[in-house]
Amino acid sequence: MSGVLDAAYDAAAAAVRAAPRVIVAAHENPDGDAIGSLVGAVRGLRAAGVDAIGVRAPDELPREYRWLDDGDTVTSTPEGEGWLLLAVDCGSEARIAVPEGVRERAALVVDLDHHHDNTRFGDINIVDAEAACSAMMVRELLGRLGVGLTPAIATPLYVGLVSDTGRFQYSNTDARAFYAAAELVGTGAQPQEVFQRVYESVQASKLRLLARALGRIELRLGGRLAVTWLTRADIAETGADEAATDGVIDSLRAIEGVEVAAFIREAANGSRHKVSLRSANGIVDVSRIARAGGGGGHPRAAGFSSDLDRPELVALIEHEAAPDLG
Ligand code: AMP
Ligand code: MN
Ligand code: MN
Repeated sequence: MSGVLDAAYDAAAAAVRAAPRVIVAAHENPDGDAIGSLVGAVRGLRAAGVDAIGVRAPDELPREYRWLDDGDTVTSTPEGEGWLLLAVDCGSEARIAVPEGVRERAALVVDLDHHHDNTRFGDINIVDAEAACSAMMVRELLGRLGVGLTPAIATPLYVGLVSDTGRFQYSNTDARAFYAAAELVGTGAQPQEVFQRVYESVQASKLRLLARALGRIELRLGGRLAVTWLTRADIAETGADEAATDGVIDSLRAIEGVEVAAFIREAANGSRHKVSLRSANGIVDVSRIARAGGGGGHPRAAGFSSDLDRPELVALIEHEAAPDLG
């Protein structure tokens, strides 16, 4: 670990100890790493004797991760002010999903994240782009606070690790990720139970929605760009919930010859569309495409929100991807 990173963990641990209260938050449209890191941090901080509260936006959590939050988060603004805000898995300040007033009433912000394009928005920035997930970084911070892992803490952290590594298959799956997995399983995370709850509890409506997206796959740039899309009507007509679009992009990326996968979905609120991008082999840095669209992310998994219409989005993605695929 670099000296800078090591010092950032120590500074964050000291700040947590000195804070009257710690509010933990993750990003909007939370994934397994966001929820797992948030819940794991709240439980771990409480085990360290810290007054910790988890907060999140009022939207429902994705069904497969709902079981993780056992009353560990609130969707309203806590009383008081002058807290330390610990933002986990957020690449930029705009990504932090908190109820009204939470950000403004924090006295100090700690940014704990593994996105390579993290904007270092915190007063203390613990940014480790080599970490497979933020959950591993939460574990490191908890270690510096003297917290011993228990099944209740290890389980959400393990979910973060499993989901961000694509069940230990993506390019971020390194020895450190497996050591972290060994420790988390050794302290009570149950791989089979996590698999059952996260991946084997799918609603039929989600598969019907997936079928619509798969039926529309369009190959461009000589088969190296795969695009598909879903509308509000698709979501309404299949009866699927909002988070059921998760996973569509994985099928696109798996197509032989595809380097860039793009999934465009009509958003429920805010911007008109939400775009997910994946790079199959790392030939194209999709976070660059996402930044061109106003978002960001990792080289192999990125996204953005946009008011452009679908043909405009396809043109933008194709235009940005083409030079690298030439
Ligand atoms: P998703 O396709 O929603 O799973 O997002 C993949 C990754 O892209 C996330 O882990 C984020 O790092 C990043 N990302 C997605 N949407 C945005 C956005 N609007 N702004 C910045 N980064 C984003
Ligand atoms: Mn995330
Ligand atoms: Mn993550």
